[in-house]
Amino acid sequence: MLTFQQLQSIVQGREVQFVQPLPVVHLLTDSRKLSQPAGTVFFAVRGKYNDGHQYLPQLYAQGVRAFVVEQGEPGELATRYPEANILLVESSLEALQQLAAWHRSQFSIPVIGVTGSNGKTIVKEWLSQLLSPDELVVKSPRSYNSQLGVPLSVWQLQPNHTLAIFEAGISQPGEMERLQQVIQPTLGVFTNVGSAHDEGFASREQKIAEKLKLFQGVELLFYCADYELLHQAVQAQGIKSFTWSRHQPEANLFINATTTAGQKTIVVYTYQGEKQRLAIPFTDEASVENALHCLALLLYRRLPLSEVQDRLDRLHPVAMRLEMKEAINGCYLIDDTYNNDLAGLAIALDLQASQPQRGRRTLILSDVLESGLPEEQLYEKVAGLAQAHKVQRLIGIGPTISKYAHLFPQGSFYTSTADFLQAFDASSFRGELILVKGARVFGFEKIVQAFQQKVHGTVLEVNLDALVHNLNYYRSRVAPATKLMVMVKAFAYGSGSFEVANLLQFHRVDYLAVAYVDEGVALRENGITLPIMVMNPSQDSFAKLRQYNLEPEIYSVEQLQDFVSSLEPEATYKIHLKLDTGMHRLGFVPEDFEALFELLHRYPQVQVASTFSHLAGADEAVHNDFSQLQVSRFRSMAAAVEERLKYKVIKHILNSAGIVRFPEHQLDMVRLGIGLYGVEATGSEQEALRPVSTLKTTVSQVKSIKQGETVGYSRKGIASSDRTTATIAIGYADGYDRRFSNGVGQVLINGHRCPLIGNVCMDMCMVDVTGVAVKAGDVAIVFGPQLTLVELAQSIGTIPYELLTNVSTRVKRVFYAE
Ligand SMILES: *Cc1c(COP(=O)(O)O)cnc(C)c1O
Repeated sequence: MLTFQQLQSIVQGREVQFVQPLPVVHLLTDSRKLSQPAGTVFFAVRGKYNDGHQYLPQLYAQGVRAFVVEQGEPGELATRYPEANILLVESSLEALQQLAAWHRSQFSIPVIGVTGSNGKTIVKEWLSQLLSPDELVVKSPRSYNSQLGVPLSVWQLQPNHTLAIFEAGISQPGEMERLQQVIQPTLGVFTNVGSAHDEGFASREQKIAEKLKLFQGVELLFYCADYELLHQAVQAQGIKSFTWSRHQPEANLFINATTTAGQKTIVVYTYQGEKQRLAIPFTDEASVENALHCLALLLYRRLPLSEVQDRLDRLHPVAMRLEMKEAINGCYLIDDTYNNDLAGLAIALDLQASQPQRGRRTLILSDVLESGLPEEQLYEKVAGLAQAHKVQRLIGIGPTISKYAHLFPQGSFYTSTADFLQAFDASSFRGELILVKGARVFGFEKIVQAFQQKVHGTVLEVNLDALVHNLNYYRSRVAPATKLMVMVKAFAYGSGSFEVANLLQFHRVDYLAVAYVDEGVALRENGITLPIMVMNPSQDSFAKLRQYNLEPEIYSVEQLQDFVSSLEPEATYKIHLKLDTGMHRLGFVPEDFEALFELLHRYPQVQVASTFSHLAGADEAVHNDFSQLQVSRFRSMAAAVEERLKYKVIKHILNSAGIVRFPEHQLDMVRLGIGLYGVEATGSEQEALRPVSTLKTTVSQVKSIKQGETVGYSRKGIASSDRTTATIAIGYADGYDRRFSNGVGQVLINGHRCPLIGNVCMDMCMVDVTGVAVKAGDVAIVFGPQLTLVELAQSIGTIPYELLTNVSTRVKRVFYAE
């Protein structure tokens, strides 16, 4: 096993301190994902938003004793971390890559490298499915294809593996050379050439040339010769290739025709002079292309045709994301029933661990396949992971995991999924966050079904990755020292308070703010420990406010009087002073100051934690002068406050729009609201954000309406000609605005925009689907990435805030990570 000392020569680091021999087992770059401190080496990598060096003290306290760092003074590092082995390197990221490259070079098995604009993850997953009957495959977990993800993927290589498949993605020149050195592929797949990341390159040609660097030295590159630029570049470079094409009979694999038959695509092809037919179990273009890459590889490996067909038949769509779903008895499920390897298990357990307020952690786990480790060692590792992630209850399903029951004190075991379902007792699960993680062959989707409540047709899907993306975007717009308060009022703008607050806590924002005390109490009861400001605490809620350690906004002398009249003398209390600089909603004006300071002077146990004001028109440029006036009023009022108090307080005025428009007025803190949820209120940087929420419902019935008939209440929807309508399961009681009635609103069904016909009803509405293939049960998207909140809000003369917060609480929220 590799030792920390050997690491020094591999990464050419400068040793700062070496106190004890330590094995290098786990590589860590994200401090939050620490699971087993012993054997972990932390690489302090500096990213765009985050600097790993910041987390050294915390990791050291948690028992990590091996660090690779790129900054710090050796003497100081040694005194701060006396028991740690420390290497100082030029670049921690490069050191990680060098280590992975060294690890890779210890193996001489075939390694398939996959790159291209789209389809990398699917081709990788499918190849692994198709080849695993003959091979023990190691592959990148999910889409770990970045400068950081690739080395971590390659690190999984173990002596028993017989084949490796790693994907590589780049966004700018220079990156692929490094990934090539880490992966050192012997075979390559170039999936396709599209527009993704064009902005990082001078031209398409340059992008292709960069990506081809992955395949330097491969024995064979598989690609579709119909991508002309790609084909020319491969030929020019003389890379040995295996091509397929729909137009060029001289390709190694010539596709004569593809035709759709029901849910399948029939492929007629010519290979080595023989014409053959095969069926692919997909009909969409992207899947067919991905499957043809796989077919090329299977043919190259000389698999008998019947076997090729057999394996293709069993291909499944790849679940690209982990979904969190509501389940029976207040439980939540993380549905990961697609595959079960060690790396994937660690990722899913991380997601589970990031939601501590969901209650007890339960893991339902099948046999773990394809680890490349001896069984005993494998299940010791699994047990270690479960323990490190504080899994309280484990249900093992499968003959192998059952053999190692003794390793899992918290476990119960079944030899098959059928056995488990037979014994299934719904009442024994309550308030748990259940991770369901099973290899495809175990058919765990049946377990998920058993746990799921019947879904009311309408759901609001919340993309947690998009939320984090938006958070990071705003972080990149403010100075590192500026604090961040995030507004989670109104059920986190309709997105679900605990889930969002929890994610924010995980990502270490500084403050949360809610409108009412009850909202704050709910957050505390769900495990949120961040400071919380309450913007509108009523007098009768002060006791609760103090009990739950919430901090009130104070906006008038009378209110402060009420607050101080019930204080306990020895405790201290934090408050936030709201100043009115022109919004004229709540807040002190200079004339109140005498009375305010007199009270604060009399009650020294009351501390002003912050003082703030709110811009009335930050989203619109026409109000820029007024916004500037508000800021200058605020600056002088806040200065007066500090002068009288004789201590420093946090000052803040910018909301989401203000952060974008007035970077020079960040002061000590900013307050992020709508931007987090994917709407850029000034409109100028909308592209930088990702949409977070998708509101979906289903089609209940499809009807043919004769010319002259009417649809819905008050007979407002008149059929001007023979029409087809679909009734969808959302109405104004779900928060779907009645102003969308009669053609104003549209929904997306099977990719088509379908206008409303007639008035919106309480629980339903009707849309015109004439000429569109629609059937009962189809999904209708009410808003989402393709039908934006901004557009919809404009169409009825309101703002995205209202549409988001109106989504009724009876609409189920489903959270997912990609
Ligand atoms: C809601 C709110 C914000 C956030 O506003 P956005 O426009 O959503 O960014 C900031 N400050 C106060 C006082 C608020 O009430």
